[in-house]
Parts: sequence; structure tokens; C-alpha cells
Amino acid sequence: MKVAETEARNQELEDAKASMVSKAELDSVKNELKHATIGRTAAVEDSERLANMLQAAKRELEVLTLDKNNLQQELAEAATKSPQVSAGDIELFEQLVASQKEELGTLRDLADTSMAKVNELEEEIDRLLDELEKRDAELEEKSRTTTSPPGLIESPIAVTDGVVVKQQARSYADLAEENVRARLMDTIKVEAMSYIDEDDKRLKEKVSSGARKTTDGVYYFVGDVRPSTRVRMIYNRETTSRMSRDGQVFAHIGFNGWSLGVSKKIGMTPLAHDAKERDIDHRVRDQGSWWICEVEIPPGASTVEFVFSDAAGFYDNNNGKDYHCPVEVENLPREHRISARIKAETERRRDAIEKCAKRAGERAARHAEMRATAIIRASEGSALMRVHTVPYQGKAGGEMTIVYRAEGGPLADAQNIFCEGSWNRWNHGDSFGPSLMQYGDTPGTLKLTVNVPADAHVMDFKFLNEDVASPRTRYDSNNGADYHAPVIGGSGVAPKLNVVHIAVEMAPICKVGGMGDVVTALARATQEDGHNVEVIVPHYDCMLFDAVDGYHRAGSCVHHNVQVDVFKGWVEDVPVTLLRPKNGHFDVGCVYGRHDDHVRFGFFTEAALTWMRSENKEVDIIHAHDWQTAPATWGNYPKAATALTLHNLQFGVDLIRRGMESCDIATTVSPTYADEVRSHHAVAPSQDKFVGIRNGIDTDIWNPSADEFLPVAYDSSNAIAGKAAAAAELCKRLGIQHPKGAPIVGVVSRLTAQKGIHLIKHACYRALERGATFVLLGSAPDPAHQHEFNALADEMKRKYPGRSGFMFKYDEPLSHLIYAGCDFLLVPSMFEPCGLTQMIAMRYGTVPVVRRTGGLRDTVFDVENDGERSAMTGVPLNGFVFDGTETPDIDYALNRALDAFYDRPRWQSLNLVERTLNLDWSWFEPAKRYEDLYWGALRHKRGR
Ligand code: ADP
Repeated sequence: MKVAETEARNQELEDAKASMVSKAELDSVKNELKHATIGRTAAVEDSERLANMLQAAKRELEVLTLDKNNLQQELAEAATKSPQVSAGDIELFEQLVASQKEELGTLRDLADTSMAKVNELEEEIDRLLDELEKRDAELEEKSRTTTSPPGLIESPIAVTDGVVVKQQARSYADLAEENVRARLMDTIKVEAMSYIDEDDKRLKEKVSSGARKTTDGVYYFVGDVRPSTRVRMIYNRETTSRMSRDGQVFAHIGFNGWSLGVSKKIGMTPLAHDAKERDIDHRVRDQGSWWICEVEIPPGASTVEFVFSDAAGFYDNNNGKDYHCPVEVENLPREHRISARIKAETERRRDAIEKCAKRAGERAARHAEMRATAIIRASEGSALMRVHTVPYQGKAGGEMTIVYRAEGGPLADAQNIFCEGSWNRWNHGDSFGPSLMQYGDTPGTLKLTVNVPADAHVMDFKFLNEDVASPRTRYDSNNGADYHAPVIGGSGVAPKLNVVHIAVEMAPICKVGGMGDVVTALARATQEDGHNVEVIVPHYDCMLFDAVDGYHRAGSCVHHNVQVDVFKGWVEDVPVTLLRPKNGHFDVGCVYGRHDDHVRFGFFTEAALTWMRSENKEVDIIHAHDWQTAPATWGNYPKAATALTLHNLQFGVDLIRRGMESCDIATTVSPTYADEVRSHHAVAPSQDKFVGIRNGIDTDIWNPSADEFLPVAYDSSNAIAGKAAAAAELCKRLGIQHPKGAPIVGVVSRLTAQKGIHLIKHACYRALERGATFVLLGSAPDPAHQHEFNALADEMKRKYPGRSGFMFKYDEPLSHLIYAGCDFLLVPSMFEPCGLTQMIAMRYGTVPVVRRTGGLRDTVFDVENDGERSAMTGVPLNGFVFDGTETPDIDYALNRALDAFYDRPRWQSLNLVERTLNLDWSWFEPAKRYEDLYWGALRHKRGR
């Protein structure tokens, strides 16, 4: 997204927000408008009816007048010309005229009253139209603020009714589509320019290294050698004595250094004695043995490369240098060549561009709707939270009340609690407090009401135990990130961040594990919140280049005497920069697995900073991931704060420890995992700033209402039918005879010790023994483990024929069917930094049965045992959980799950399918947490 464009849109958005009104006001205006419209319609109908009458009356009048004139004329004529006309006749005529006069009078009267009525009505209509125009203008002004103008997907979205959200989403979609089209066209332009430059360069090199149209006595091209033409070429087979003097001669022709299209072998024919080509040179006339062929020069060719062979297979390849002839393209002005290239490429890529634009548009619309839903849910659930505001989204120029529950927080024992805060990430001139908080409306809560400035976009606040800060003061500052509440309708530009992720994995172009998913999804979510985000990754030779939109070369820099070529593009609409050092570090066919990984990634991380410096890139946050890019945290990039996220503590512990110490923000992928590794020697020294933020899932990929791998799309309204269809398809595919009314228990996992292999095996026995169907999709990297699972699968097939399905492979489409078709998903991991499968399962209305560890603890709340934690976090009870690592431990959870399922009334009252399906595990909330930390660190760094 271009900065200027983005800012302009933001400005538009802000201006629009400045006059935002509430839904109630809008509704009342709409109501008035409705009445006015009804009144107007009735008046218009009335006046039309009367105008018609008037017209009819006028017409009749005209006819009568005509009649009367005719009659009078006839009368006059009769009087003069026809003495036979009797007095009786005249009398009759006079009577007729008199009666017609009378009728005319009545009609005139009627016409006059009608006319008066019409005038009156017309006045009324004018008045109504004026009124209507005024209302229309008012309404438009007001609705502009509710349906924000298309721009960045600004947060917060003003939540109004579903229709407005849908319209808003549509306008985002149109904008996203347009942006993508413009972006891809820009890329084609940039590529075309660099293509033509390269072309010229190649040609110059070739010409300077001896490419020519003619080499006397050896070969001649006859006429102009231009793209899209056929030219004749002649060759003397006596050029080298090693060429056979018998049989045919062949020309082998290629273009652009043999790189354009496939090379061709062309049979040559002897040049006739009287051929006009003989006139070229006396050597052709008098010497040698000349052969001729025609060569077709393709469009886009800038050099012709060629060698000759004889029937015996000897090649004259100019002593290993091949022969080269320049193609005459230079005569055309550069602009013409560039625009021709742009035209051709646009035509060639039209379908791809449209597909890409449509995809971006659909995604933008979906995300806008999801964000609106997330805001509605958050506001509904906020009253349960320890800290919340009323209203959830404040209104610029209005009032907001901060509600605080000290219990369970760092100020639980404080005598008095004060609150202080400001606006716009503490960048606003106004601030409030520290003010003493008063008793709240519910027991155990305190509250403070503040006025929201007209140019506020976000409220920032924290709590303290004294009204004047001193070294003894204790704070509840949300682990240093402070608390923040969205404000809508603020004037001016909302503050935004420039974030750069430096990472060695990014989904889907170079994904090995979860880190790749986090990088892409977090970057995209932050971008959708209105910030400028970029991801820098190595340019691996093995990466999925097809998934990089608008891939193009963007320059180069030199790092440690190595040239680093820089490429750019977009991955899932996130700008990416790919670094390709000329030392070949990333041209080795893999991401990891080399003995020198630390050298390769160390070089990459420093090179990324060098490139950013050479570009004078303005950066607020540099976000590093795991040990591979941890050195970015001590790279001293000017003015930037640094973040380091820990995805896996198994490797590179020294680099992680150093990174943790140097960074401003240290995070890992779930709060519980953060607590579990807090005392690890790599983390312990930095534990004060160490925060766990759970990962999200990609709710686009995992979406039961639009999942191409499911037989029936579903949401909470038809979940039972949708899940049953998926289960039937799953059983059909795995050859399972699934009895009606029995539950399906599933596992989707790498089969390693971390994932609790012994518990998975035990659960399989237990589930089948209790009448459930069991399915497993997993791959075991360790052959010993695979062997155990093969034996288990065989045994179960014997003992419970047709009741289990085991697939030992990686199969994403099948995993979708399992998530949708199962009733329960087991995740008995020994440790789990975050874990995605339990969240994916819930997205499909499948109830998780998990071990209480890491991210599993933060996302699954036992229906019987986690009431308190559920209330604290606002996440409803949603699954079955066990502690411990032994088989009776997992039995405790699995048995309760199956009991609940078999007890139909209880199962229905638990309503777990719908409950899990409606949970929001998207990146929406986690991204907000990262953003809060980014702002906090930046403020600290820049001393504000
Ligand atoms: P981890 O990264 O430790 O393997 P996560 O739960 O974080 O575990 O992520 C696992 C991801 O891999 C999920 O998206 C899951 O669907 C997928 N997955 C695991 N095994 C398979 C498999 N055999 N086939 C398809 N997808 C799998």
C-alpha cells in the first residue's frame, strides 16, 4: 500500500468520522425521510390525477368551442344563403347554442377550480421536494460516517446493522480489488522497463564480444535481422576443415543466449550458382561451399545464437564460443518498446490479474465482516473482563467510563486505586488523572468517567496505587502494554506504525512449520489494522515463487563485500522483500538442514538491516522470529524498537538468550507457554518483559461455510447437517461403517513424543471399546513410532472391523474433512507452545479433548472444571481437559466427553457444537495485543 495513498484515504476516513452520528439518530432521520417520501408520493399522485382531469376538461372545452364555431358559421350561412330555413330551425339553433354556452360556463368553472387545486398542489410538492433535498443531503452526510469511505480497513469499524456492515465490506472489497489491479500493473511496468534495459545490455555485451550480422567468408545474414521476420542466412561449410564435405549441413539456432524458446535444428540447402545471395561478397561468388536456410526471428529476440553441424555429427561452434548475430531492435524508441512490452504482458497476464484482484476483494470483504463480528462479540463479552470500558467503542466528543476490577490483578491489595491515561497512543496533548476511582455499579468494580476529545482514535490508560508517581508506586499497566480502548469518529489521522518482520519462514512461499504461518498471518492482520507492514525473507531457490504476486527485482546492496540482489512482491497481499546474496547461501535447495545454518541466517539478518539502511527506511518496529533472526534485535537500527517472538525453544538457545536481552518486546505464542518457559535460562534474565500472546488461525483457510473440501458448507445454522455430511464422506473415504448415533473421535497430528503418542494410542483403544469410531491422520518421522502405529492399526482393524481409519501421511484436504466430520478431536500433547489443531477443530464445531498445557490451556476450558477461568477470560466452556501424563489421566477427560455425548439431553443442553463454532480464534485479537506492545515499546524507546 502506498503511504501517500493510504494517508489520503485515512484522511478521508477521519473527515468522515468527524461527523459520525449514532445509529439511533440515523434511524430517526431515516424514519422522517420515510414519512416525507410517503407524503410526497401521495401528493404527486393527487396532483397527477387532477392534472389529468384538467387536461380532459380543456380538451372537451376545445371540442365544444370548435363545435360552437362550426354551428355559428353554419347558422350564419343558413341565414344568408337559405331562405328555406324556417323560424323553428333558427329557434332550435339558438337553444342549442344557449345550452352549449351554459355547458361551457360550467366547464370553465370546473377548469378554474381544478387549476387552483393544481397550483396549490404544485406548491406543496415544491415544498416537499425542498424538504426532501435537505433531508437527502443530511442523510448522505450522516450515512457517509456510518459507511466509512473505502480506505484502509481501519479499526475500529463502526458497528451498525448487518446491512451496513455488508455494504462496508463490499466497498472495502472494491477498493482492495482496485489496489491489487493497480499494484500488478505497476509491477508489469517496472518489469517491462527492466526487461528492456536488460535486453539492451545483453545486446551491447553480445555486440562488443563479437556478435555480428556477417563474418566474411563464414556466414552472412541477408537483409535486416528484425524481430518477427524471416531472414535468409548462408554458411560456408569450408570454414573449418573438420566439417565433412559430404551430406547435408544443419544450422542450430537459438535466441537471447539460447534462452528464448527452444533452439531449432534447420536443414540447409546448397546455394545455387546463380542465386542472388552470391552478390553479397566476392568470397561467396568465388570461394567455398555455401549453404542457405531461412531463419524465423521470434518477437522478443535481441540476439541470434547459432552453430552448424554436418551429417556425421561434427559441430562448428566457433571454437566453443558459438556464433552470434544482433537483432535490430534499437531503432525503435525505448518508450515504444516498453509500452509494447507492457501491452503484451498485460494481455498475457489478464486472467491472472483478474483472479488475483477478485481474490483480494473477496478476502477484504470477508475480513471486514469478521472484524465487525469480532467487535460485536468483544463488546458483548467485555463486561466479564477485569478491565473494560462502557461503551466498548467510545465516541469522539462523548464520554467513556473505565471499569476496573482489582481482584486478581497486581493492585488487588491497594487501598486506593487511581487511573491515568491519554489518547492516540499517548501522543495526544490531553491527558487525565491520576484520578481516584469511585465504586462501580457492580460489586468489586471501580469506575472513572472521562470526556473523549474530538480528535481521539484510541484511549490509553493504566492504574496505579498513588495519585503522584514515586519510586514506590505500583502499576497495573497490562504488563507494560497499557490498556487501550477504541474510539470511533475522531477527526484527524489515526496514528500508524511502520513494522518490518525479518524472518526465515513465511507461509506459503517458504513454510516449514508454524512460524511461517504466524509471520504471514500476523503481518496481514496488522496491515488490516491500518499499519504499514513488510516482511523480509531470504530468496530461497526452492521457494514457491508462484505465490509471490508481482515478483520483480528492486535493486541491490553490498553487505560484507557480497552483492545482495533484492527482489520484491506481495504474498497474500503483504509486501515482501526477498534477499539473494551472491554468495549462494540460499541457493542450496532447502530452508534448513545445512551445517552452516547459523552463518547463512546470521548473514541474512545483517544484510536485511544493511538493505533497510541503504534505503533510509523509516521503521518503528523490527520484529524478529526465533534464533535465526534474533541478531536483528541488537542491530541498532535508528529509532526502531525491536520485538523477538519465540516459536521454539529447542534450538539456538544462546542467540535466543541474547535476543531476549536486547529486544524491547519479548513474546511467545501463548500465555501459558510463556509461564512454562519463564524460568528457562534463555528467558529468565528477560522475564519481566516476556509476554505470551496466543496465535490465531487463518479463518480464511479454515472456514466451514466456504470450504472446498467439504461436501456441504455449514455455519451454526446448519451445523448438524453439515457435520453429518462431512462424517459420511469421511467414513466412505476411509472405509468405515459408522453406526448411527455413535461419536467419531479424531486425531490430526505429527506423531512425535511431543504430541503424546502413548496417550493417543490409549485413547484409540478406549474410544473403540466405548463404541466410538476412531480416525487418525498423522505422520511419524521416527520409524519406530510408525511401526507401533502400524501394529495398532492392524490390531484395531481385527478387533473392531470397519470402525477405525488410519492415514499415515500429510494430507491437508483430508484434514479438513476430519475436522468437520468428527465430534471430538484429541490433542494430548506433552507440551504445546500454542497448538493450532484444537482451534481449527472448534472452528468446525468439533469439541476438543486436550491435555492442560501451553496454548491448549489457554484455548480449551473444561465444561466442569474451568468455570472460574472461563469467567475471567470471557471464553465460554468449550471442551474436556485433563492434567497428568498417564493413561488414566486421559481416560478422565475422554470418558466424560463420551458420557456427555451418549447422554442426549445433556449433550443438547451443553450445546458444545454451536458454542465452539461461534468462537473467534482469528488473528484479530492477538494482532491487537502485538500492536499494543509495539506502541508501548516505541513510546519507551523514543522517550515519550
Ligand atoms: P505443530 O506445529 O507442533 O505440528 P500445530 O498444532 O501448531 O502443531 O500445527 C499443526 C498443523 O499441521 C495443523 O494445521 C494441522 O492441521 C496440520 N497437520 C498436522 N499433521 C497433519 C497431517 N498428517 N496431514 C495434514 N495436516 C496435518
